[in-house]
Parts: sequence; structure tokens; C-alpha cells
Amino acid sequence: SSPSDPRPDDAPASAALLARARAVTPGGVNSPVRAFRSVGGTPRFMVSGRGPYLTDADGREYVDLVGSWGPMILGHAHPAVLDAVHEAASRGTSFGTPSENEVLLAEEIVARVEPVQQVRLVSSGTEATMSAIRLARGFTGRPLVVKFAGHYHGHVDSLLVAAGSGVATLALPDSSGVPAQMAAETVVLPYNDVAALEAAFAARGDQIACVITEAAAGNMGAVPPDPGFTAALRRVTAEHGALLVSDEVMTGFRCSPAGWWGHERAGVDPDLMTFGKVMGGGFPAAAFGGRCDVMALLAPDGPVYQAGTLSGNPVATAAGYTTLRHCDDAVYARLAEVSRALGDAAAEALSAAGVPHRVQRVSSMFSVFFRDGEVRDYDDARDQDTAAFGRFFHAMLDAGVYLPPSAYECWFVSAAHDDTAVQRVLDALPAAARAAA
Ligand code: PLP
Repeated sequence: SSPSDPRPDDAPASAALLARARAVTPGGVNSPVRAFRSVGGTPRFMVSGRGPYLTDADGREYVDLVGSWGPMILGHAHPAVLDAVHEAASRGTSFGTPSENEVLLAEEIVARVEPVQQVRLVSSGTEATMSAIRLARGFTGRPLVVKFAGHYHGHVDSLLVAAGSGVATLALPDSSGVPAQMAAETVVLPYNDVAALEAAFAARGDQIACVITEAAAGNMGAVPPDPGFTAALRRVTAEHGALLVSDEVMTGFRCSPAGWWGHERAGVDPDLMTFGKVMGGGFPAAAFGGRCDVMALLAPDGPVYQAGTLSGNPVATAAGYTTLRHCDDAVYARLAEVSRALGDAAAEALSAAGVPHRVQRVSSMFSVFFRDGEVRDYDDARDQDTAAFGRFFHAMLDAGVYLPPSAYECWFVSAAHDDTAVQRVLDALPAAARAAA
């Protein structure tokens, strides 16, 4: 049987919805990793979420460890966010003009993340990284972009090369539909390899517009930069007049009040940064920002064009602003506590069952690799027992824990994961670990 065959324990209401969805939507999903392809079985259609829980179309409740892939840092249906959304929506859902909520959100981002002097709001992380590299090319007048294998920056043509995340889940090396000449403008380097970086710049440094990096990698599982790696990125780019673009779509406002930049505090200021997920509070809002002299090149004042019908949407920005305002010290303390407890318990259960594993952390993000030994780059990350992960995933799902349906993704916790929710996960782990063995 192929991994996508239905399993006997699958949820009938979700299966019925999937059949309808497949008729009108490729694969029945609007983002590929939702399709459960690498783990098999029926993707669960969710009907509601509250705090740390999701409820599916069959009425089954799960402790959610996906958190909509990062945004739901306060948990689902947080009352203050809902109030802000209702209030904003009651005044109209989109104006296509500037509005105050955009200013509030931009001020909040600029206040938290020092290297960001100005920010522009967009609707997705993909738009943010796409716009940031266009701006870097406009600023430097150079064509090439350096990225790292296993880093995902959204489905931008030129960044869908060795892109981790869903591309890794589906075992695709790259994406069809990306012209060779576009991929050729992307230089892919191994992560955490300063020698490779220096060699690439020695060879083509005068043509490189920017290095784009996940501030700490989360799309091949959690792989932090080696100590000194971020500083090396800054040194080498500066030596060659290229920009450093730090992608904090996943880490931003999650790893600390000022994201990975605030967590690492290595004295490294990128030229441009990208954000999404948490800052949208569960709505489509994202951003890119950085040095004033670079941002000044954007239209309407400068020659680099960038725009969006729904950019800075008043409802999305209200949700994002309210979410950020509620991300206080207690929230970050709880994220750290819960992720520590769950990561440690997963390691303990897998050890007891004799399953090779490695838990890695990026501040309060963490992931469980089904292999022994440290994971420092994409080759390491891909060298794991994905079949064992699939068995583990389904045992957890059957026990009411919704994990990311891929061995290449981080587990996301929220401040709403209270002791009851955490205990449910702890209770499910030993049997799931035995199922993986
Ligand atoms: N950059 C990073 C680091 C991400 O994790 C993601 C999404 O997972 C993106 C960019 C793309 O964001 P979006 O899915 O909102 O387009």
C-alpha cells in the first residue's frame, strides 16, 4: 500500500470532505504539506480551534502542536485577538488606503527589532522574501542570490532550490516550472559551512546581491546556526558589498520578543529582515524591513516596485498588533517551559523504545529527528527514518495529538498549552515511541 492509501482508522467526515476537495482542488489541499503524503492517511479537516486544541470534522479533539505552522503563539481563538478582529471588521474589512492599524503594527515591529528602521507590510512570507531580494538586487545592481540548502523562504521561483520543508517532504529536489536561468541566479551553499561561503564570494562576490538565510533554520527541522556562523555571514557580505537578509518569518517574535535576532544577540545586524506568521496573528500579514537607506529605494519614492491590494489589511493588522502586544515575558517563559518539557519527554520515550532520535532546539522551537547524531545541515536532516516518523505520527494522532505531518518540520507550542494539554502529550508519547520502533 502506498503511504497515501486511507488507513482503516481514518476519520470518515474528513475523508468525505477530502473526496469533495480533491474534485475541485489539486490534492484536495491549498498547501502541499497538509496532504499527509509522507505519513499517509486522511488529512484532518478542522472545524474549530480553542487554546491548545483543534477539533476535526468527526468531532475529535487534538492537542495542536502545529499552531498553523507558527502563527498561533497565543493559542487558537484568543479572546483579545478575537475582540480586536471583531472591532476592526465592524468598521470595514479593506479600504485600499492607508489606515492606523498598519502604523501601529509597523511601529511595534520597529520598536522591537533594532536593525529594522522601516518596514513594509505584505500578505505572506513569500511576498516578503521575494520583495526583499528584489530590493537587494535593486540596491546593489547585482543579480545573484545566495541561499542555504534546506532553508525555505516561501515559494519564490528563485528560492525554490534545495528548499527543505514541503519540498523535502515530497522528496522533490526542486520545483518544476522554475526556469533554469532563474535557478542559475541562485547560489546554493551548505548551511553552517563558512569555508563554502568564503569560496563562493571569492569566486563571484562582485555579482552577489545578497545572502538570504533563515535566522535559525526551522524548515528542515530545528537547526540553529553554529556559534559564529551568523557573524561570518555579516563579515563576508560586508567585505563584498552584498546585503545580508535574515528571514525571520518563522522565528520572528517567537524565539524572543525580537525573534532570533533578539535571542542570539551576537551583535549581528542584518541589512534586511523578513517576518510573517506570528506578526499576522493568524491572518495573512507579513513584512520586510531594514536599513532606511535600502528601504528608501522602494516605490513610491524609489525605483524598486512593490505593491499589494490587501497589504496592511486593517483586520489582519489588528490581529497581528494585538498578538504582538500580548506576547509578554510570561508568554515567552511558557513557550520555553512547554517546549523543554515536550522535547525532553519525546527524547526519553524514544530512548526507552530504542528508536534512534535527536531533539534539536531553536529557542522555543524544536524538532525531533528520527536519527542519531547532531543535525547541522540539509544532508544530515534528510538522513532520517521517515517511515519510523510516520508510525510515530499516526500513533500520536490516534491518541489525540496533532503533530506536523512531516519529519522535516518543527513542533510549535503556544502560551495556551496548559498543564492539562501538556500532560495529554506526555501520556501519548511512550506508546507512540514503541509504535515507531
Ligand atoms: N520564510 C520562512 C522561514 C518560512 O518558514 C516560510 C513559511 O513557512 C516562508 C518564508 C513563507 O511564508 P508564507 O508561507 O507565508 O508565504
